[in-house]
Amino acid sequence: MNAIPSRPVADPPADLDCTAFAKGLFIDGEWRRTVARIAVVDPSTERALAEVADAGVAEALAAVEAADRAAPAWRAKPPRERSEILRRCFELMVERADMLAALISLENGKALTDARGEVAYAAEFFRWNAEEAVRITGDLGTAPSGANRLLVDYAPIGIAVLVTPWNFPAAMATRKIAPALAAGCTVVLKPASETPLTAYALADLYRDAGVPDGVVNVVTTSDPGAVTAAMLDDPRVRKLSFTGSTGVGRTLLAQAARSVVSCAMELGGNAPFIVFDDADLEAALDGAMIAKMRNAGEACTAANRFYVQSGIYDRFAAGLVARMAAMRVGPGSDPATQCGPMITRKAVEKIERLVADATSRGARVLHGGAALAGLGYFYPPTVLGDVSADAMLMHEEIFGPVAALRRFETEDEAVGAANDTEYGLASYIFTRDLQRGLGVARRIESGMVAINRGLVSDPAAPFGGVKQSGLGREGGHHGVLDYLEPKYIAVSF
Ligand code: NAP
Repeated sequence: MNAIPSRPVADPPADLDCTAFAKGLFIDGEWRRTVARIAVVDPSTERALAEVADAGVAEALAAVEAADRAAPAWRAKPPRERSEILRRCFELMVERADMLAALISLENGKALTDARGEVAYAAEFFRWNAEEAVRITGDLGTAPSGANRLLVDYAPIGIAVLVTPWNFPAAMATRKIAPALAAGCTVVLKPASETPLTAYALADLYRDAGVPDGVVNVVTTSDPGAVTAAMLDDPRVRKLSFTGSTGVGRTLLAQAARSVVSCAMELGGNAPFIVFDDADLEAALDGAMIAKMRNAGEACTAANRFYVQSGIYDRFAAGLVARMAAMRVGPGSDPATQCGPMITRKAVEKIERLVADATSRGARVLHGGAALAGLGYFYPPTVLGDVSADAMLMHEEIFGPVAALRRFETEDEAVGAANDTEYGLASYIFTRDLQRGLGVARRIESGMVAINRGLVSDPAAPFGGVKQSGLGREGGHHGVLDYLEPKYIAVSF
């Protein structure tokens, strides 16, 4: 086993006061304090950064009430005005990018470069949806009988409850808020308990950008089950957009069924990364590092299983080990860091369990393979070779910096293995033969496929999964449609 990289120590940026973003719940444009508080911990140091408000059902319903009061004026606002407010959100996010990136890297632990990338990506949802807000059209057709015209008008769906995870605290929020506001909806955001500060920093930004009071409300809670269920049972709520684990998604779908609330689900992944013999090796390694190591592997689109054709397997494995070994592990806020900590100790323990299971089934540790001792939730970049098909990590999200490699011989074998999962979010294919790449892309059961690229996410493209990875799409022209309800009007002129 290779040596594990040393971990430098760096203090958080001295001028960033995290408590400034813990003023209370953000309801109706005001900050509401609560007696109960939720501690926010820096995963790099295990130090408390701040304590945010802890909403119960009453506060969550007050947020729904605020969203309901704000709804008529917001949906009636001319699209151009909504568009300009969203554009201002984009501009302010760009202006505040350094501060937001520092905050994200503190509460989430991700490397500053990853945090900067996230802020840029998150801001783009405002720019894109500012443009979408003025392009929402309807349809006019003729009934096949010729008797009348078919008019389809698109109206905002209503109040949307948005529930987001900790791994992209800015982007998962703006990917929902921006299209919802473009469509004319008002929202209540329930961010993850581990990373609420970014959501509250963005609440400041919405106000400064001119988003009217009550249009965006933010509530944090230590009891997400009860709080979300109460909001879903409120008949004024007509939309749930959730990003998170498949297990919680299933629970929320069942809850939403009680009030027949429209659901968008962005759930877990188990992305295959397929490298054919004819691939450009350097391009495949570059792509692998992005697909595996962006956010230290804590991404739903992260490459989880590497299927590498036998003719290129040894060279790919050696190249990947060299690159993983060169990565600098450290606190997210240290600009030199390339791989930050995991979000919690529990996350590290899950990785340890999956790696132990894989090695017990014959996998070889080519690099890394053991959690780092000391403060902070660090697991080093790790490469496992010859992982058996029945190892748990071939079927479950690792959500960490572990690359699991397995050989294949034929295209059919690779496609069969890639599809042998209940998930279907992202997939990666590396080959110089574009005809083969496109053919395999069409056979793979996933909502998104990258060919000769390690990154799929783009605010202008429909992001989402098939099978147990979710329902619906965010981004592109599809994103705003999710917050609109078609109304059909049969009309005789
Ligand atoms: P999670 O445990 O499902 O939590 C996600 C959100 O749901 C958090 O805000 C959480 O609140 C809340 N939640 C938890 N239990 C709930 C309940 N019973 N009722 C209502 N809300 C509840 O997921 P996570 O660990 O934060 O995120 C990692 C997962 O998200 C991975 O599976 C990843 O693949 C997936 N993900 C998917 C996408 C995508 O676009 N497809 C993007 C990013 C992440 P608390 O924080 O308070 O528990």
